[in-house]
Amino acid sequence: MQLVILGAPGAGKGTFSQSIKKYKQFTHIATGDIFRKHIKDQTDLGKVASTYIEKGKLVPNDLTDDLIFSELNLVKKDFILDGYPRNLDQAKKLDEMLRELKIPLTACVSLSIEQEVIVDRLRSRVVCSNCAYSYNLKTAPTKTKGICDNCGGKLVHRKDDSPEIVTHRIQIYERETEPVINYYEEQGKLLEIDCGEIDFVTQIDEIWSLLLEREVKV
Ligand code: ADP
Ligand code: ZN
Repeated sequence: MQLVILGAPGAGKGTFSQSIKKYKQFTHIATGDIFRKHIKDQTDLGKVASTYIEKGKLVPNDLTDDLIFSELNLVKKDFILDGYPRNLDQAKKLDEMLRELKIPLTACVSLSIEQEVIVDRLRSRVVCSNCAYSYNLKTAPTKTKGICDNCGGKLVHRKDDSPEIVTHRIQIYERETEPVINYYEEQGKLLEIDCGEIDFVTQIDEIWSLLLEREVKV
C-alpha cells in the first residue's frame, strides 16, 4: 500500500504515519525529517535547505524531487509520503516517477484542521532530535521530561515552529499545497479526514479499512 499524506503544518501527518504502522510495516518518507537530518549533518543539501526552511519557505522543487526519486527507488512499496508533494508541480512529478517505477499509488489521505488549533498546537510541540518523533507538552507529553519515549533522544523545539514562521507556513500551505488536494480528488484518490474535534487516532481502525478497500481497486 502506497500513501501520500497531506495536511497543514501541525495537522498530525507524523502522528498519523506512526499510528497506521500498527497495521503494516510502512516506510515513512518524511521530507521535512530528511531535510532536518541533512541540516544536522551539515551536508551540502542541508546547507541549502536550511536557508529556506528557517524562513518557512519551500525548498526548491528540483532538489526535493531528486531526493524523493532516490527514496522511491530504494523502497518501491508500502510507504507513506509525508510532506511530498507540496505543490502541483511536485504532484505531477510524483506521478511521472511512480509511472516510471511502476508503483501504484493507493490513496492520498488529507488531514483537515482549523488554523487556530494549528498555531496553538505547534507552540507546544517538541520533536526528538534523534528519531524525529513528535510530542506535545500539553496534550501528549513524554514520560520523562525532555527525553524521547521512543529512543531516549533529546527533545527540541523546531526553529520554524515559532508563531511568525508558522503563519508563513500556513499561507504557503493554502496557496501551494491545497491545490494538490483537488488534484488527487480529480484522480479519485482522495480520502479526507477531519481532525479538528475528534482525534483521528480514535478513527484509525475505520480509516484503515477504507484504505484496504482502496487497495483492492488500484
Ligand atoms: P510541516 O508539515 O509541519 O510544515 P515538515 O517537517 O513537513 O513540516 O517540513 C518542514 C519544512 O521543510 C517545510 O516548511 C519546507 O521548508 C521543507 N519541506 C518539506 N517538504 C518539502 C517539499 N515537498 N518541498 C519543499 N520544501 C519542503
Ligand atoms: Zn527519539
